[in-house]
This record gives sequence, C-alpha cells and structure tokens, in this order.
Amino acid sequence: MKVNVAQLRREVGGIAAFEFREDFSSFDLGLEGLTFQSPVYAKLQVNNTGKSLFAHGVIEADLKASCGRCLENMSYQLKFDYEDEWVFEPQATEEQLETSFIFDKDEFEIDELVLEQIVVNLPMKFICSPECRGLCPVCGTNKNLNQCNCDTHVVDPRLAALAKFKGLS
Ligand SMILES: [Zn+2]
Ligand SMILES: [Zn+2]
Repeated sequence: MKVNVAQLRREVGGIAAFEFREDFSSFDLGLEGLTFQSPVYAKLQVNNTGKSLFAHGVIEADLKASCGRCLENMSYQLKFDYEDEWVFEPQATEEQLETSFIFDKDEFEIDELVLEQIVVNLPMKFICSPECRGLCPVCGTNKNLNQCNCDTHVVDPRLAALAKFKGLS
C-alpha cells in the first residue's frame, strides 16, 4: 500500500482519500496457525491539519485461525477503525517523533503501519463459536463432533480428602 502525499502535504486544509486491497499473505502475524485468507482492505481519509496529516478510516482483514478450545480451523473477520498522525520528518516535534508515524518522502509505504495495527487489534483468543465445547481433557475428542465417556468430573482435592475422612469414598 503506497500513498503519495506530494500535493496534500503542501495544501493546508486539503483532504485526500485512499483505498487499497492488497495481499498481505507474505507477512507473519506472529501467531502459529494465523494467516490472511484474502487481501487486506483499507480505506483511509487523510487531512492536512497544518501540523501533520491526520489519517483515519477503516481496515478489514479476513483471517484464518485455529480455535483456542477445539483447535479446528476457523475464519475470523477483523474490522477496526484506524486513526493516526502522519508527520513529515523535517517538521516533526520531539513528541511527534516518538508518538506519530514519520515519513520523509512524498510517496511512502504504509504496509508495516497497517500490519502493526492489525496485530494490535487481534483478539486475545480465537474461539470458533461461543458454544464451542472444546476437547475432552482426557481423550482429546472434539466434543463438538463426538461424545466420549471419560470422567471429566473435577474433584477438589480438599473435598476428596474430606470425603475419605468421613468414610464416604
Ligand atoms: Zn472451537
Ligand atoms: Zn474423552
């Protein structure tokens, strides 16, 4: 995703719109089993505020993940609002150098920026459905697909000791 702000950068109050659909499959999302299923979509509007370029819009990614409970493959639609300040390096203040996205040419790549935002917006855990019953902790059967007869009743060891003491087990 390459943006060209040659004109916008010189026009305080100006607005530019960008729309992308780009293949991100070569990027590593840093999580095992997590990949892009289709091109990432980004629609951004960039305003020249005089101090910086204020970029905002929406980013959408179609991911393939594995469920944290049953380990089956699942699709996950990620969609979030993007908002950031892009600053031309020679004009950046100390603070902007630390907190904003800095560019030094009229035309620059925003792939890394978009990828970073995708990673930040990933859920803590992928679950295929709120009803997912997960795997049996004893035999590993996917309980969404099959029943097993394992005893998965978890006994509190303190209660077990008490039951023994009372001669109940
Ligand atoms: Zn699941
Ligand atoms: Zn089982």
